[in-house]
Amino acid sequence: MVSDEAQNVISTPTESPEGPGLNARTPGSSGEKSPGGLKSGKPQLHISMVNTFARCPVQFQRRYGARFDIWPQEEIIPPSVALGIGTSVHAAVELNMRNKMKEGELLPVEEVLQLARDNFEATWAGGMLLTDEEAARMDGTKGEAIDMSVSLSRLHHSVLAPQIQPEAVEEKFVVKLDGYPYDLAGKMDIREKRDIRDTKTGGKRDPDAPKTMQMRMYSLGHKVNQGFTPDRVKVDLLLKQKTVKHETYTTQPGNEEQWYRPLYYRIESMMELIDQVAKGNAKMPAADAQSWMCQKSWCGYALTCPAWSGK
Ligand code: SF4
Repeated sequence: MVSDEAQNVISTPTESPEGPGLNARTPGSSGEKSPGGLKSGKPQLHISMVNTFARCPVQFQRRYGARFDIWPQEEIIPPSVALGIGTSVHAAVELNMRNKMKEGELLPVEEVLQLARDNFEATWAGGMLLTDEEAARMDGTKGEAIDMSVSLSRLHHSVLAPQIQPEAVEEKFVVKLDGYPYDLAGKMDIREKRDIRDTKTGGKRDPDAPKTMQMRMYSLGHKVNQGFTPDRVKVDLLLKQKTVKHETYTTQPGNEEQWYRPLYYRIESMMELIDQVAKGNAKMPAADAQSWMCQKSWCGYALTCPAWSGK
């Protein structure tokens, strides 16, 4: 069953994961931390924030900084075409998996594909961030994106969905961090009997996909909700190629301390920097100007960012 109000406290390790250049504390192992100018209430760190921070802390500050009182307002950038395709496929998979969980069978394929089409159309109508090349051929860009959303959704419906036995879909979790001004929150795509499963779209193979911070955070959410770390973490990658393909990658978390340590470490360093920026002791660092991210075709903040590479 889907839990809409899952809120539990997890016991986190008390051993401090010391690392280079980081005065690390494990969540829950120290006393109350200064809120660093936070607004009232306890904000939640979602995985999208952690991922944005990892790409570029300046992007994080402009997108989410208002929630932590380190930026005047939230600057929301329209989605790219790649994100629009991913969101549409995700919506189609979710609809189909919810039906399988409740009714024990898949929806008719056309119903699922129509949702993928409609979802992309709605995203397009709301405005998208297009590259110069995409903007120069609007109709072609939109048509190809819809075709790709439909092809990937069809592939999932015909090959992957019959194998999946969902016990929960889009299950929420909150990991309370005692002694800290933040909690962790998120939603897992799919929970199977003792496993968790995520659907992704991408252009390249990615065998390490189950080992990302996102999947470790979902594992922690599973531990909060179910009382144990999932046996297996699976990622179904739908590959955006001329002939669409899929690959499923699986990992077994094994040693919990090793599995969760990088996640605690990442969150610790992020919280520390937010706190220091809020107190005026530090600035958010920019992404490497030579990285793919720091280009105007990838970063919607580029044209107004002093650290932009100019590419
Ligand atoms: S232009 Fe570069 S430094 Fe500025 S927000 Fe974008 S990625 Fe970060």
